[in-house]
Amino acid sequence: MSTLFVDKALLPDGWARNVRLVMGQNGRIADVSAGAERQAGDEYQSSRILLPAPANLHSHSFQRAMAGMTENHGPASIAGSDDFWTWRTLMYAFLDHLTPGDIEAIAALTFMEMLEAGFATVGEFHYVHHQPGGVAYDNIAETSERIAAAASQTGIGLTLLPVLYTYGAVNEQPLKGGQQRFGCDLERFSKLMDAERRIVAGLPEDTVLGMAPHSLRAVSPRLMREAAGLWSSGPVHIHAAEQVREVEDVVEWLGARPVEWLLDNADIDERWCFIHATHMTPDETRRMAESGAVAGLCPMTESNLGDGIFEGERFLAAKGLFGIGSDSNIRISLHEELRTLEYSQRLQDRRRVVLADSGKSAGRTLYETALSGGARAMGRDSGALAPGLYADLVAIDASHLSLAGLKDDQVLDGWIFAGDQNIVRDVWSAGRHMVRAGRHIRRDAIEARYRTVMAGLLQRL
Ligand code: ZN
Repeated sequence: MSTLFVDKALLPDGWARNVRLVMGQNGRIADVSAGAERQAGDEYQSSRILLPAPANLHSHSFQRAMAGMTENHGPASIAGSDDFWTWRTLMYAFLDHLTPGDIEAIAALTFMEMLEAGFATVGEFHYVHHQPGGVAYDNIAETSERIAAAASQTGIGLTLLPVLYTYGAVNEQPLKGGQQRFGCDLERFSKLMDAERRIVAGLPEDTVLGMAPHSLRAVSPRLMREAAGLWSSGPVHIHAAEQVREVEDVVEWLGARPVEWLLDNADIDERWCFIHATHMTPDETRRMAESGAVAGLCPMTESNLGDGIFEGERFLAAKGLFGIGSDSNIRISLHEELRTLEYSQRLQDRRRVVLADSGKSAGRTLYETALSGGARAMGRDSGALAPGLYADLVAIDASHLSLAGLKDDQVLDGWIFAGDQNIVRDVWSAGRHMVRAGRHIRRDAIEARYRTVMAGLLQRL
């Protein structure tokens, strides 16, 4: 047991003062009391505001190492400009050089940065399963073990989402080039899932195993039906409607838009998370909200890749739930993801404060929605400071200049719209106190290894 005492915290029924929070040995919150007295042995830091720490629901951690390498105006894709598809070609080329050791070191840096940003847990959408060319490693789950090792080293909560990726494009096209590292038919994938279960059994009890049919490009309707038994429990994530060309290809092939097709054919419910869901008709938006599936929004990656803008207002009006992810990890920042999400809506609609109801704070609405959506998408008991839930906590600096003069909900508005990274001071994931005074407790070792790996990788690129 350990006990935290803070001057202020955001509890399920609102802001509270003098809050005492007891964490059990199992990583869960044992008790929370407001208006409490500080007791001997309580861990107390002055000028801290305690919040539930959200999940980062969508990450491809290896892509963190490409950040800054793909911002030259490159050659046009077949659509005629430098776009998502040209970026994807560069990403595949990068993959030809990654070893399992590289994958682990990069993931460790990425997960560490997520914790330092205020995220307590990550949904790793993991598809680099095999060697370049597609031959399996001796251990079929070699790279998943590396992801698990990075999670253990950093202490981040992990929802591992092994990806089923079978085809290179719509209409069951064969895998090409860099895609071969992802490739699994059903038999290979079922072996991989058996190995994933063993890996997760060896990790802390807050670890969750889900699965991810990559997209309707990479997993056909026939395969989705055949593989359905492999995902009878746990979260299911799928990329959907990120790109206009992808929507057009699916319409041509299946006679329905991707989100529409999934809602009509795949028993969509609260276990599902549609990553991106950028291009939806009003009808798809309403139906998706009603299905209970979480929209996995990745605003900074979607901006970086020129994907488009999510139908935020319509989705929230239909009581849809979203969470946020850092996806390509071009930048890892909890508050900037939320800021970018709201600003994209303002730019699109030419209005202010789009994603909050009248009289409500944008920051509080964005933050609390991301908490609920993230917890649901991770299949994780978290998302609030309440007994029984995992102690996923972030303590922010109430004395930070960006928060001067702000109170209650304005603190979240100040952090999200005006603040910077050093507002985050301490972070716990399922009670593991991994970030102290703004710095991950293993930062030096993780950073040094990453630098060594990058030096080697650059020589091979
Ligand atoms: Zn993605």
